[in-house]
Amino acid sequence: MDAQLVPIFAPPKCISMVADQEGFLVPSVNTSICINCHLCDKVCPVTLGLETENAVEYPRVYVGYNLNPKVRKESSSGGIFSSVAEDVLGMGGIVYGAAMREDCYGVDQIRITGSNELHLLRGSKYVQSNVGDTFKQAAEDLKKGLFVLYTGTPCQIEGLKSYLGKEYPNLICMDFVCHGVPSEKAWQSYITMQEKKYCANAKTFYFRNKSTGWKNFSYLIDFDDGQRYTKPFEDDLWGGAFVRNADLRKCCYDCSFKKIHRVSDLTVADAWGIETINTEPIDDLGCSVIYAHSTKGKNALDNSRGKIILEELPNARAIAECNRLTTNSERHPTRDLPAYGRNAV
Ligand SMILES: Cc1cc2nc3c(=O)[nH]c(=O)nc-3n(C[C@H](O)[C@H](O)[C@H](O)COP(=O)(O)OP(=O)(O)OC[C@H]3O[C@@H](n4cnc5c(N)ncnc54)[C@H](O)[C@@H]3O)c2cc1C
Repeated sequence: MDAQLVPIFAPPKCISMVADQEGFLVPSVNTSICINCHLCDKVCPVTLGLETENAVEYPRVYVGYNLNPKVRKESSSGGIFSSVAEDVLGMGGIVYGAAMREDCYGVDQIRITGSNELHLLRGSKYVQSNVGDTFKQAAEDLKKGLFVLYTGTPCQIEGLKSYLGKEYPNLICMDFVCHGVPSEKAWQSYITMQEKKYCANAKTFYFRNKSTGWKNFSYLIDFDDGQRYTKPFEDDLWGGAFVRNADLRKCCYDCSFKKIHRVSDLTVADAWGIETINTEPIDDLGCSVIYAHSTKGKNALDNSRGKIILEELPNARAIAECNRLTTNSERHPTRDLPAYGRNAV
């Protein structure tokens, strides 16, 4: 086993992820068995501040979308994640990303090996995902020489890179322009409330249902007895608190990972405002902005060209778009009231 991983994941196993008072997963050190090796400080991306390669030339900024309308409809923006993931899976590679748990009570980072599982990862889930032991699994896959695509929040990707401790040519990392994440505990209260109201178990969730369009996406829950709940995203209790920034993790309001030059190879986001640069009318199925931060990221996009429409943005627009990488979500005034997030809607 890699010497760097031993103190964290083998005995004494003194670091674990535990829920804080608000239900956010945070690292916790068991001081009774800590051997003061300080390796955790050496791999913590908050204390490290990783350097990025090619910072002068990159990022390159594109707009694009997946040519498969079904995939695009199931994706939150333009379905770029799915096209890159399909390429990696097609090479016998592995994809890691966030999936809703079967009981709908939380979101986990999971490992998939086939395109038939891609639907589990597709679409944004507006809840903090649990990385579990996926960093360790990804390290093992990489050492075997498998191609790996790891997708997650900017902080998760920096955590992975830092954990790995070296560059792997067979690893592609994709993050997104991240608004911030609410906690699993708050999510569980919300879902329990809905299940009580409908006297049924939640079966499927769509945080970004596009049957009402990409721009006016809605929130949708299917229950196991066939009932359906749907509302414009902002009118729902969960969606409303999320867009008003009333329930995000405290550090998300001052995020160290919202920056132009990232350790990810690709950053994806919604291409809001696309109509201002496009002379051709664009449909309402979704479109992405994509930032390529490395040659690997650019190559991954180029390899997907048969599956996606892709256009590099002219300089001025590209520079303006880059600002989206750095803007923090503004804390809602109700955020720190005792029942956080609840008074926002
Ligand atoms: C919590 C969150 C906040 C976001 N905030 C913004 C924003 O402010 N502005 C903006 O333009 N875009 C934001 N996005 C990104 C955007 O909505 C799309 O997810 C992104 O553009 C990719 O879309 P896609 O169509 O290519 O693929 P999709 O199929 O929509 O992509 C899904 C990808 O997101 C990952 N993912 C989903 N939920 C989570 C999660 N909880 N934790 C970690 N990874 C997750 C999946 O693993 C998969 O890789 C956010 C996404 C999330 C999950």
